[in-house]
Amino acid sequence: MVNLSKSKIITHRQCSKRLWLQTYRKDLIPEIDIATQSRFDEGNRVGDIARRIHHNGIFVDTLKKEDALFITKDAIAKHQAIFEAAFFEQDVLIRADLLFPDKNGYRLVEVKSSTAVKDYHYEDATAQAWVIHQAGINLTQVALAYINNQFVYQGDENYVGLLIEQDLTPNVHDRLDDVTNWVKAAKETLALQEEPKIDSGQQCHSPFECEFNDYCSPADPNIEHPVHILPNSKKLANKLIEEGYRDLRQVPLGRLDNPKHIRMQEAIMKNGPVLDPMATEELKSLPYPRYYIDFETIAFAVPIWKDARSYMQIPFQWSCHIEQSNGDIEHLEFLDISGSDPRYEFAKKLIHAIRTVGPIIAYNAGFEKSRIHELADLYPDLASKLSLMPDRFFDLLTLARNYYYHPDMQGSWSIKDVLPTIAPELNYGNLVVGDGNMAQEAYREAISPSTTVERKEKLKDAMLKYCAQDTFAMVKIIQNWTNKS
Ligand code: SF4
Repeated sequence: MVNLSKSKIITHRQCSKRLWLQTYRKDLIPEIDIATQSRFDEGNRVGDIARRIHHNGIFVDTLKKEDALFITKDAIAKHQAIFEAAFFEQDVLIRADLLFPDKNGYRLVEVKSSTAVKDYHYEDATAQAWVIHQAGINLTQVALAYINNQFVYQGDENYVGLLIEQDLTPNVHDRLDDVTNWVKAAKETLALQEEPKIDSGQQCHSPFECEFNDYCSPADPNIEHPVHILPNSKKLANKLIEEGYRDLRQVPLGRLDNPKHIRMQEAIMKNGPVLDPMATEELKSLPYPRYYIDFETIAFAVPIWKDARSYMQIPFQWSCHIEQSNGDIEHLEFLDISGSDPRYEFAKKLIHAIRTVGPIIAYNAGFEKSRIHELADLYPDLASKLSLMPDRFFDLLTLARNYYYHPDMQGSWSIKDVLPTIAPELNYGNLVVGDGNMAQEAYREAISPSTTVERKEKLKDAMLKYCAQDTFAMVKIIQNWTNKS
């Protein structure tokens, strides 16, 4: 018999086939990607902080089931607060984040790194409460603690106010009896010799993106340009499928009326790039010097620097290529891996690099502009210079979306998908740090006191190469679209 856990019960609530595959077809489970791993890490850090805020409790700091159950039982006998308490009832093993004793039993607080209570949190908390009830403990309250995204860290390891609690008791109470059936159903699924026959549907994406999507809905090799790659057109794509068109090559000419969709279809039919001459005209009108910039940022659920908000995007690196009218190109960059707050030096050196005149070209410029506004708010002595920057921005992503398509882009205008259609030699796949998530993970590692000096240097080198490629990519794209390369 396979033991259950809270996560397994919730997985089964999403899709019985998912739980079966997770249990018996581990070979199909893809490796955890960097973004997911950093979410887990961030969740662990929030758990640490929750325990630190409440400090007076027994931390069941072991993954060994029997040891964890023993420590929990002992703490309950002494009516102590318990963190990561373990319970095993009806073949279900759970770990409860925070249990606080009160005069009639215990108060359960589950801790999440999200910034709001989500629908699935109710079932999650209900499953936890059910197991604790089975263990004969009276829960006087079930609450969920989540991140207050308005919390601003004032330093000195003071995180009081970081977590907001919401009482879920009435909802949990209403559904408690349902858990018996959830557990029974999950056990029945796990007793099956073969995977349950379940078609793909809404459940594959909610409340969690299922890791078996590729297995359950393998790509049809005959469909190279699925109609759902049309941007912002879910309804239209469904309509086209109803009409019998699954690939944009099958859609009759004249059926699409959005100029972007028509350009995509044209590029696909001719199997090559399509660029509206308006793009060339707009780009040629940009004066010199031109400043191509890109920021790398990181967002911590638990802020580590004073005056930072939870999940605030903290800029730690920029790259800037400066292009003169005679074709000369200079490259400047900034990256601070000291572990100190990088923002002031980031802003000061940026001001120096991008001077006061000339367009600032960015890909998805709104992101960089928002960071500049935040820095201006934070540093009054730099505000007047920083606040001159946003008006100088030119967004290359908007221009690309409006005027360019190549069939290899597969419905994505990310710079990582546009660049290879123009300069295939600039391949992000050859870089050690090849995307923003990898840059964030590299930064986390680089600022960690436990990272060796040699490793820090390697990470720094990889991060500098990556960010420099992002800004050089924009130079190459504009050169190509203005017939300079
Ligand atoms: S992809 Fe969909 S159908 Fe397949 S296991 Fe996941 S949720 Fe179930």
